Amino acid sequence: MINIPKGTKDVLPSESYKWHYVEGMAKEVASLYGLNEIRTPTFEHTELFLRGVGDTTDIVNKEMYTFLDKGERSITLKPEGTAGVARSFLENGLFNGAMPLKMYYITPVFRYENPQKGRLREHHQFGVEIYGGAGADTDAEVIKLAKTLLNKLGLEVKLNLNSMGCPTCRAEYNKALKGYFADKLDALCPTCRERYHKNPLRILDCKEEGCKKLCVDAPKITDYLCDDCKAHFNGVKELLKEANVDFIVNPYIVRGLDYYTRTVFEFVTTSLGSQGTVCGGGRYDNLIAQIGGNSTPGVGFGMGIERVLMLMEAEGVEIPLPSPVKVYVATMGENAYKKAFGVVSKLRDNGVKAELDHAGRGVKAQFKYADKIGAEFVATIGDNELSSGKCNVKRMADGTTEEVGIDDLVKYFVGE
Ligand code: ATP
Ligand code: MG
Repeated sequence: MINIPKGTKDVLPSESYKWHYVEGMAKEVASLYGLNEIRTPTFEHTELFLRGVGDTTDIVNKEMYTFLDKGERSITLKPEGTAGVARSFLENGLFNGAMPLKMYYITPVFRYENPQKGRLREHHQFGVEIYGGAGADTDAEVIKLAKTLLNKLGLEVKLNLNSMGCPTCRAEYNKALKGYFADKLDALCPTCRERYHKNPLRILDCKEEGCKKLCVDAPKITDYLCDDCKAHFNGVKELLKEANVDFIVNPYIVRGLDYYTRTVFEFVTTSLGSQGTVCGGGRYDNLIAQIGGNSTPGVGFGMGIERVLMLMEAEGVEIPLPSPVKVYVATMGENAYKKAFGVVSKLRDNGVKAELDHAGRGVKAQFKYADKIGAEFVATIGDNELSSGKCNVKRMADGTTEEVGIDDLVKYFVGE
C-alpha cells in the first residue's frame, strides 16, 4: 500500500462539509468587507520568495519545497500567500485600477516543517490583502475582519498587537537587541546565534524554551518607535477600540516574515498547545518595492484553516451537517427500478435530494442503506405498486407511512 506523504492530510467525504462551512463563512465575511477573491498559482519562481519573504526567515531558510523543473528553472511551492498576490498585483498592473484594492484568497501552503498536531507540511490558509491604504484605518479594518470571522465561527480568540516600526526605528532597535543578547550568546540555540548576526529580531520568534526565557527581559520595540510609527500605532489602537476589538499589546510579536512594517498581530488561543496561533498578519509597506514595483502600502493576514477547525472541535462548536437525502426510493424488480430511476431523476431535476439503489440489493438491505445515509423518507416501489400506481412513503424518524401516487412523488416532496 502507498501511504500519504508525511505532514499531509486527506479531507474525507464525511468531513468536507466542515471545510465548506469555514470557507463559506470566510467568503461571506470577505464579501461583506468588499473583498474579491484572487487566485494565483500553487508554485512560483523561487526568486519571488527570496526577495519577497526574505532570506533570513525560517520559511525561506529551512521550510521551502524547492526543485528544478524540466527546464532547469528553480520553482518553489507557495510557502505563504502574500508574495504570489504581490507578484500578480504588479504583473497585472492592478495598481492602475481602483485603489485601495481589497482581495482575499484560500490556498494550500507548503512548508517543510517537523509535523506535529496543528503543524503540517501542506496546510491551507484563508488570507486577506489590501493594497493602497497607508493609514491606521486599513490595519484596523483588516483586524476587525479577522475577528468578525473568528467570532462568526464561534471562536473567542485573544488578539496580540504590536508595531515593528519602519526600517529607521528598527535599525535602532536591532542595535539594542544586539547589545542585550551580546553576553547571552552561549545560552542561545545555534539558529539564534546565527540570527544574532543576520537579523536579531528573529530571536524573539524562536520556539526553543531556552531562547524564549532569555527573551522575557529583552528591550521592547515599542520603546524605539519613531514619532510617525508611534502615531500610526496609536491610531490603530484607537480605531480598534472604536470597533469594539479587544487587544493586548505584546511587544515581542515579530512574525516570521521579513516584509512586515509597523502593525503586526496574531490571534492566539491557549487551547491548541504551542500551535495556538490561528491567524497572523500585519502591514507590509515595503513588499511591493522589494519585488521591483513602486512603493505601495499593504496590509493583510493569513488564517490557518486546519487550526481554526481544530480549535472549533476543541471548543465544541457545532457545525451544521449537510442536508440529508430527502427521499430514498427502494425498489423490487427490474420494472420497478426503471420507473424509480425516472422518478429519482425528476425529483433531482426539481431540486429534491433523492437516491436509489446502485448495488442490486434486496429491499431490506436498501432500507438499511437509506438509514445509514440518514434519508428522511423511503418510498418503496415493486410490481404491486406499479399496477396500483401508488406507493408507501415512510418517514424514517417515526416510522409513520403515507400512501402517495408514484407520479405525485415529485409534487409531494417539492412542497415538503
Ligand atoms: P507558527 O508560528 O505557528 O509557525 P507562522 O508564523 O509560521 O506560524 P504564518 O506564516 O503567519 O504562520 O501563517 C499564518 C497562519 O497559518 C498561522 O497563524 C497558522 O494558523 C497557520 N500555519 C502556519 N504554519 C502552519 C503549519 N505548518 N501547519 C498548519 N497551519 C499553519
Ligand atoms: Mg512557522
